[in-house]
Amino acid sequence: MKPQGITLLGATGSIGVNTLDVVARHPDRYRVVALTGHRQVDRLYEQCLAFAPAVAVVADATAAAALTARLRSAGSRTEVWHGPAALEEVARLPEADMVMSAIVGAAGLRPTLAAAHAGKRVLLANKEALVVSGRLFIDAVQKGGAELLPVDSEHNAIFQSLPHGYAGDLDKAGVSKLILTASGGPFRQLPFEAMRHVSADDACRHPNWVMGRKISVDSASLMNKGLEVIEAHWLFNAPAERIDVVVHPQSVIHSMVQYVDGSVVAQLGSPDMRTPIAYAMSWPERIDAGVKPLDFTALSGLSFEAPDLQRFPCLQLAFDALAAAGDAPAVLNAANEVAVAAFLDGRIGFLDIARVVADTLDGVSLSASPDLDSLLQRDAEARVFARSCIAT
Ligand code: NDP
Repeated sequence: MKPQGITLLGATGSIGVNTLDVVARHPDRYRVVALTGHRQVDRLYEQCLAFAPAVAVVADATAAAALTARLRSAGSRTEVWHGPAALEEVARLPEADMVMSAIVGAAGLRPTLAAAHAGKRVLLANKEALVVSGRLFIDAVQKGGAELLPVDSEHNAIFQSLPHGYAGDLDKAGVSKLILTASGGPFRQLPFEAMRHVSADDACRHPNWVMGRKISVDSASLMNKGLEVIEAHWLFNAPAERIDVVVHPQSVIHSMVQYVDGSVVAQLGSPDMRTPIAYAMSWPERIDAGVKPLDFTALSGLSFEAPDLQRFPCLQLAFDALAAAGDAPAVLNAANEVAVAAFLDGRIGFLDIARVVADTLDGVSLSASPDLDSLLQRDAEARVFARSCIAT
């Protein structure tokens, strides 16, 4: 079998590194076509030497020249491209059968759309891309003849728990509800007032998963679960009222599908992103992902509780944005990206994240059925508005 080509958008991040770990276990099945990074050029350099991609992409011309010089002196022939257009170009390369979309935030939108238009197997970790562009993204997948495989562990679990060949009709599949599990994050039991004083490092100390800093903060605020509700809506054509969120602190059940006959099908496993990454890469087959098997006898128990929307208003804001439809989810996402960056920089407190998002949703005028240009315009307006909320 000829190895399948893979382009990794966001190779230097947490998902990117885990993906390369899976690739390295199966050199007969996969070969790396392109790797992209942004600020971590040293890590990208090491990855280029280890995986010999045809192309690497960095943020700007200066970084590209420096990386090219280092690679040439190490005997590497990897070409180095730079800038946002290069991200789209590597997503379309004919040698790439699949594209891992693991850039964080809306910056990943255009290259992920490019992969969809080019008919690739799109391994979607970058949930923000789908939250921002929703219907446009699903249309691009259909028109481009792409395959969309969810990497987010919850959506991957639902994908595994739905009937094979599920084609977007919950009723036809006998599904009553999709149930997204949430760990509850590091502040699950913290009183609301105490959240005023938490630091960025506190928020990034996730109880079960090791992830990038932005998604870690989103997990702490439950905005991550809110983004996932919107993601599930688009991936599985599920209305909001048929998507439930349940807090499950052990993160052993990654999500579930409830059927009309009372059955619940769940996917379980150790909390390790290599499982959903490997499944998305190898589907419909399964391959070794290097993941520790689940030891049921070592589990102390599985518990469940309802999410607390008073202490975690971001989850409610996401449900509201989904109900408002149009470009409201794009505004929610943009405001959240700005607020989380400000929180990570120590410019606002943790509780200000929800305030900035709510004020931006109230303050920016929304449109019902936006095209890509107007979505990007709204994204830009929301960022300006959110920054003004932070400055005051
Ligand atoms: P990281 O912050 O660890 O990595 C982000 C990647 O995106 C890095 O390669 C980074 O480059 C690159 N990047 C950042 N900004 C830009 C930009 N403006 N242009 C181009 N590239 C950029 O994030 P994660 O790996 O944790 O998450 C990636 C995506 O996957 C997110 O959308 C997240 O929600 C989703 N996800 C992550 C999970 C996890 O377990 N980590 C689980 C489920 C979903 P560099 O580092 O070189 O600056």
